[in-house]
Amino acid sequence: MPSQPENCLFCRLVAEGDHVHAADGFVAIRDINPIAETHLLVLPARHVDTFREIDAFPDEEAGRMLRFVADTASAAGLDDYKVLVNVGERGGQTVFHLHWHVLGGRFDAGKLSRALELETA
Ligand code: AMP
Ligand code: ZN
Repeated sequence: MPSQPENCLFCRLVAEGDHVHAADGFVAIRDINPIAETHLLVLPARHVDTFREIDAFPDEEAGRMLRFVADTASAAGLDDYKVLVNVGERGGQTVFHLHWHVLGGRFDAGKLSRALELETA
């Protein structure tokens, strides 16, 4: 069973969101504010705050998560695409439930450049 920290938006979307793809403890949803023609988010059902805590996933589960990212892109019809993980506030992370952006097709250049900014202190 996934842990469901109170007030975590993505825990709620794992439980009751509109999933474009789902398997084995992972779901993919459409980003509400897409920066590319196809902009999906892969969410592990289990709540982990950031990619920094990747050690929270046993190797087998981490491997399945990566395969699920690739399967999500493939199921969306993408051959060539980008995979992005924002890590921590200064890395651009705004929702603290680990997620993978899957981005394909035409990009919104302004939104993309803002998404790629890494603020330095
Ligand atoms: P990040 O900035 O890496 O933490 O990414 C969070 C992403 O979640 C952003 O791209 C948002 O547009 C997206 N997002 C926020 N709220 C929702 C929602 N209710 N449904 C789908 N995507 C969302
Ligand atoms: Zn969560």
